[in-house]
Amino acid sequence: MERRKVTFKIYPNAHQRQTLEDWLRLHAELYNAALQERIGAYRKAGISISYYDQQNALPAIKQNRPELVPLGSHALQETLRRLDRAFQSFFRRIKTGDKPGFPRFKSSARFPGFCYPDPAGWKLMQHGKRGATLRLGSGKKALMIRARGKHRFADLTPNDCTLMHRRHPRTGHSEWQVSVTLRVPTMTCARERTGHESVGLDFGVEHWANFDDGRQENNPRWVREQAPKLAALQKERARKRKGSHRYRQLSERIRSLHGTIANKRRDFIHKKTTELARTCKLIATEKLQTANMSRSARGSIEKPGKKVRQKSGLNREILSAGLAMAHQMLGYKVTETGTHLHLANTRQLKPSQRCSGCWSIVRKTLAMRTHLCPECGLSLPRDQNSALVVLYDAWVHHPLPGTGEAARAKPLAATAAKSNSMTRETPTTANLA
Ligand SMILES: [Zn+2]
Repeated sequence: MERRKVTFKIYPNAHQRQTLEDWLRLHAELYNAALQERIGAYRKAGISISYYDQQNALPAIKQNRPELVPLGSHALQETLRRLDRAFQSFFRRIKTGDKPGFPRFKSSARFPGFCYPDPAGWKLMQHGKRGATLRLGSGKKALMIRARGKHRFADLTPNDCTLMHRRHPRTGHSEWQVSVTLRVPTMTCARERTGHESVGLDFGVEHWANFDDGRQENNPRWVREQAPKLAALQKERARKRKGSHRYRQLSERIRSLHGTIANKRRDFIHKKTTELARTCKLIATEKLQTANMSRSARGSIEKPGKKVRQKSGLNREILSAGLAMAHQMLGYKVTETGTHLHLANTRQLKPSQRCSGCWSIVRKTLAMRTHLCPECGLSLPRDQNSALVVLYDAWVHHPLPGTGEAARAKPLAATAAKSNSMTRETPTTANLA
């Protein structure tokens, strides 16, 4: 069984819009009241109130506030659970010594939405080529909301349903989306694979991906264009008085630009990962490590200049989020196409330090962009060499029968795991600051 989440844009009419906004406000009120109750009880009596205390109080609250009834008891419970999860994360962060971040009161304008945790109280019906209708509630007062889109698992019933609300950053119009979770048998998920390539790839900053055969997938232009634009806006906002009209205007432009970047990035990564999964039988890359995220900022700077640090920081932020996204998307797409995804252990393998020709360790700093092996004389672009190393590593671990490819694999040398201060590729944030 696989889990798939599908999101639809919905188009409520004026009356439905009003109802949805009322419900959202009531959910936000419940969330805030529950938060207030927890804070009050702790301050006054040192008592911790649990999720179950609050859930058990719901029926009594509904008697006093009949307007809560049409929202559905499970949806109300889910909002209380959301608060509970916020507290759990707060306590977890205290334990691990992170910045705690106490759960906050949320205005209904900023409340993200509400959720039906099971198939009760709603239904999503698909019809025609791209049409769908979302029913919320039951009986005569049920809302029948028009939705757009179609998912390919028409005969399965979704398990839960989340309604998400946001205001459009520029127009201020309220926009609603519904997202449902489906449990799909692995067979039903399957997609056709058109190619049988084996590729090693190294995700990077200069290029989105470097392949073992020397091909490079460039980062799309918007990454290079939008980052300086965003930096300029942020700089301009820093000169405004906080809370002033212009400050707010600029904040909205920044928010909208962030949204544009996020959309384009998601779209780009979807297309590329789909292409990879569809054409390859084996994809090898490095396992994603959080330390990797801060790795490449320095390497991306070819001409050091003014504000390099700020700009590279922004670039890094934009790109590293994409790296996690690419891994996540590849992860589920390969199960659909039956592709094998090999995630090499970076610490052990050291793909950027290892020679793909003779498997010996060749130390280099981040600034050295070419791999030149003193042992065997191999000379390759640095990223192509790493991509080759992870590909060979995949062949060692998953020899493909009948292809003879396994014969080309190199054994791990005994020196593999030795640590080495000069080749540290993962500068901590403290070093960068
Ligand atoms: Zn070599």
